[in-house]
Amino acid sequence: MKDFFQKVNSYVKEAFGASKYLFDGISVTFDHLKRRPVTVQYPYEKLIPSERYRGRIHYEFDKCIACEVCVRVCPINLPVVDWVMNKETKKKELRNYSIDFGACIFCGNCVEYCPTNCLSMTEEYELATFDRHNLNYDNVALGRLPTNVTSDPTVTSLKELTYLPKGVMDPHDIPLSDSRVGKLPEEVLDWMTSSKSTEELPVGK
Ligand code: SF4
Ligand code: SF4
Repeated sequence: MKDFFQKVNSYVKEAFGASKYLFDGISVTFDHLKRRPVTVQYPYEKLIPSERYRGRIHYEFDKCIACEVCVRVCPINLPVVDWVMNKETKKKELRNYSIDFGACIFCGNCVEYCPTNCLSMTEEYELATFDRHNLNYDNVALGRLPTNVTSDPTVTSLKELTYLPKGVMDPHDIPLSDSRVGKLPEEVLDWMTSSKSTEELPVGK
């Protein structure tokens, strides 16, 4: 008889333990139902890179004076500036310019120090190729106008995960009722300076 009660006791304990784990799991699921979704359905949806994002470098051939400052400030002397000296004009003639993005660490030094501002960082981050040699961009590839997530009609840009209210780091934390989420900074400024801003501010201002 004693054995029987011990077995029943342990069975009940195990059943309670199992149901506790079950309810823990369900409570996590219900907790997420109240939150904003943060999954990005790439490549149909894309996040907007931040304003200071350092992506593929853009290069303007016509502005380059072949001074090679970009080579000297690069931690790995990466840019290749191919020029010849014109003996008649006694000026450098630029032939080609290239940067190998397979080796570039996107530090931005070359962009920072270029005296003619012919280099700039773009928002492009999709540089994957099947062959690493294709990452060596010449002046034609570097000169291609950069693509932009917000101007690409085939992509849904996720502003609400990028333009978060001030002080918010996690989009999960913002209530669905917050009207400022996903507004561009200038839109928020307009809204704040308009007469509506005298009304009660939405949550997460
Ligand atoms: S620093 Fe600028 S101007 Fe000078 S070689 Fe490099 S890209 Fe050209
Ligand atoms: S971003 Fe940095 S590593 Fe890349 S080419 Fe410019 S200086 Fe060199």
